[in-house]
Amino acid sequence: MGQQQLGGRRTFVRPGRVSLQEAVTPEAQGITDEVFANTMTTKQAAMQALDMEEPFLAFYCDTYVVPLPPKHRFPMLKYAATRANLEQDSSLKGAIGFKCSPVCSTEELFRVHDKGYVERVVSGDVTPNEERALGFPWSIALIRRSLASTGGTVAAMHAVMADHPRRRRAASHIAGGTHHAFSGHGEGFCVFNDIAVAAAAALVDYPEQLDSKTPIIVVDLDVHQGNGTAKMFEAEPRVVTFSMHGEKNYPWRSKMTSDHDVEMPDDADDELYLRTLGQWLPYLLDTYAPRLVFFQAGVDALKEDSFGRLAMTREGLLKRNNMVYTECIRRGLPLVICMGGGYSRPYDASVLAHSDVYRSAAFRYRVVPYGR
Ligand SMILES: [Zn+2]
Repeated sequence: MGQQQLGGRRTFVRPGRVSLQEAVTPEAQGITDEVFANTMTTKQAAMQALDMEEPFLAFYCDTYVVPLPPKHRFPMLKYAATRANLEQDSSLKGAIGFKCSPVCSTEELFRVHDKGYVERVVSGDVTPNEERALGFPWSIALIRRSLASTGGTVAAMHAVMADHPRRRRAASHIAGGTHHAFSGHGEGFCVFNDIAVAAAAALVDYPEQLDSKTPIIVVDLDVHQGNGTAKMFEAEPRVVTFSMHGEKNYPWRSKMTSDHDVEMPDDADDELYLRTLGQWLPYLLDTYAPRLVFFQAGVDALKEDSFGRLAMTREGLLKRNNMVYTECIRRGLPLVICMGGGYSRPYDASVLAHSDVYRSAAFRYRVVPYGR
């Protein structure tokens, strides 16, 4: 199946479910038509982005809005709000280049996801139990969004790995971080695992640059364990998974074993969190000497978060982000930054903390934008 067919031209809608017209905004419709019509690959999208003037790149897919029932817990609008916040920040003028995320291809998905799962979920052939685990009602818009949410992270990976004179040291996605997606099922608002798909793409597309025993490390700092990523790379020594999360938090029944799991007690504050991360991060980067780093920058460790159970402040999270950037810059490591959880109510505190992730990266990498 070609990329252009995946989700794009299917108009299958189950009786009683949302219609295609209702499912996508006109803007998203235009973008998806454009994407599906020209079959732009994740790498082509990255190459276009690399030609942009701005030193730091941010892919986004908030134009793919998924219709959700009233009072649904998922803050779908926080993605657009985060981008708007960054675009309106005059201190970032000319610092961040925004680029609409391409959709990923089936070939990219099949490297880490079961073929049957991908085909079933794309065609809407999911059971009520699967929908419940996912936390989203199925819609064609959900699939488009999930494909773009994966494709943007793959494109950000190409932006830091591709052979290009303006290859960036760091690139980001204002989405993704869907680390609860497993090979054969999705859960916890995650359909496809973008970091896993991007890591697998990197191993295939950049074998020379990644020719070492442990070339890729996933630094997952969402407050929930990156269980899907851990499981997918359980038997893949080339991808090291590190997850620092709340001990008592979801996933309760489906926690997996990462290469390194660090569990934070309830109400862990900035001091404890930063001290712990400050010990782990240099250790991991020195021990494994990776050549590519993925940063899942969830902000649900924030004390205002409704699911988080930890007690970090916005300033603490800012220090956390800078710790990751400093350690990567110091070692000249290519870095892919993606989003993660953030569920404060109202969502303002999460949006500010999400924006900080990209704002600090733009500031830090403005000094060392290109090459290595
Ligand atoms: Zn989370």
